[in-house]
Amino acid sequence: MNGINGKANLSIDFLVVGGGIGGLACAIALRRVGHRVTVLEKTRDEDVAQMSHGGIRLPPNVAKILIHWGLGEQLKQIAVTSEAIELEIYETGYLLGVHVWDEEFLKETGGSYIFCHHVDLRRLLFETAVSLGAEIRGGANVVSVDGDDCHVKLSTGETLRADVIVGADGRSSLIQREIVGYDVYASTPCSSLLYNTTVPGPLIRADPELSMFYKKPYTKLFVWFGNGRSAMGYPIGGKDEFALHFWVPPSSGEDEPDHWGSEIDMSEMRRQLGECEPRLVKLVSMGSPPVRVPTKNVPPIEDWVHDEGRMVMIGEAAHPLPAGSIQGAALAVEDAAVLAKLFSHLISEDQIPSFLYAFQDLREGRCASVIASEQGNLTFQMMPKCEQQEQRDKHMRAKYDAGESPLAGGDAAEQWEMLKELFGYDAEDEADDWWVKWGVLRERAKQRAMDNDMEAQMNGLVMCH
Ligand SMILES: Cc1cc2nc3c(=O)[nH]c(=O)nc-3n(C[C@H](O)[C@H](O)[C@H](O)COP(=O)(O)OP(=O)(O)OC[C@H]3O[C@@H](n4cnc5c(N)ncnc54)[C@H](O)[C@@H]3O)c2cc1C
Repeated sequence: MNGINGKANLSIDFLVVGGGIGGLACAIALRRVGHRVTVLEKTRDEDVAQMSHGGIRLPPNVAKILIHWGLGEQLKQIAVTSEAIELEIYETGYLLGVHVWDEEFLKETGGSYIFCHHVDLRRLLFETAVSLGAEIRGGANVVSVDGDDCHVKLSTGETLRADVIVGADGRSSLIQREIVGYDVYASTPCSSLLYNTTVPGPLIRADPELSMFYKKPYTKLFVWFGNGRSAMGYPIGGKDEFALHFWVPPSSGEDEPDHWGSEIDMSEMRRQLGECEPRLVKLVSMGSPPVRVPTKNVPPIEDWVHDEGRMVMIGEAAHPLPAGSIQGAALAVEDAAVLAKLFSHLISEDQIPSFLYAFQDLREGRCASVIASEQGNLTFQMMPKCEQQEQRDKHMRAKYDAGESPLAGGDAAEQWEMLKELFGYDAEDEADDWWVKWGVLRERAKQRAMDNDMEAQMNGLVMCH
């Protein structure tokens, strides 16, 4: 029931609150199917680059969407493709094993696993959204939102209206508060802190102790398993940097900022590393000033759609993930792709609420399982010293010594199977399937009910005359 070239027969106005990865992806996806989109982003355009401090991982399930949107070539300019994962002990650097991505497996998932800088990804999405005709207003801080009357107010006092409001305003979301009634993210305790920084690639390659992080034949993701701590490092394209994430225990009593933009002093990060292998200490000493964000295990949010059926949330506003998750950007882009696929079938305004509820129906199961797996991964990486941790390490190393992947068999095997399922997911296919199974049926049932009504009215007329 699409119009010409996959565009909706009826074009409507969308206001997207938040111009992060989710909001910009949403603008691209909705423009692709012919809707009018305005994105409101509180950060001013000239400040965006200073707000981003690190690398972001894009698994195959999101890479395939971006490639489908025609961004494959531009992605190659800003990203590197991951070929293997190397696992070590955080405190000592003891090698647990190396897993090389199976080419066949990646081919089956329909995408590749890539790393880039957050700011480069954001810029790519921004430029694409603008080139497709979206209006993006930097420095537009939304201070209040009304789901009953479908409007938002900016800090300048300006009021803006639309047919649909999309909340893509991140984990501490204004739209979430309007829909749910309180700030779910703020009321969840902090389970760990993420420190996020980058180190210039040339500095690492010039240092004999560190150059192995760039050693071929593989471009690797390095993961360190620690006693209540964990770290991750990987090369990113664009400016030729090495991204570093550290998860450490939360500091007691401090009020943690809930956003990504606040740069902190490097000495604090160094203090927080705890007992840590020398290469990590050295890497950190070469890093840029990091940001610190709390990591939280937020429970699933029940309502993503406002009762009036004109306002919805996507990305981290709808389903906050532990900070630094591999699927953070991926789920936000999947949401955008699914929302737009549904709205490509729009032929009348009365479909809007049912499409928004269908969006939540389609997405909530997938997001809940991904987030549970992300929370599990982090717990696995940060497992405190115990018998299970010893078994984990022994098992991985034994596999590696036997020439196998450390991620084959044992506890890790279960995590690994889940990963395969997560990567293979095709959000756009899922939305198409939903439409064929349910959407078309609903439309037919609605048409039949209208025909019956009409027939009854005609019969009534005949009887009267
Ligand atoms: C500045 C920044 C840097 C980040 N850096 C990294 C990183 O290095 N590595 C990583 O893995 N993840 C990073 N993330 C997180 C990552 O972007 C998200 O996990 C993921 O992409 C999902 O994004 P989202 O669009 O749902 O939310 P977010 O990325 O949080 O985007 C939300 C956007 O909404 C805007 N916004 C919030 N409130 C309002 C309001 N009232 N009015 C207007 N605009 C509003 C915010 O400024 C932000 O741009 C970063 C996020 C941000 C915002």
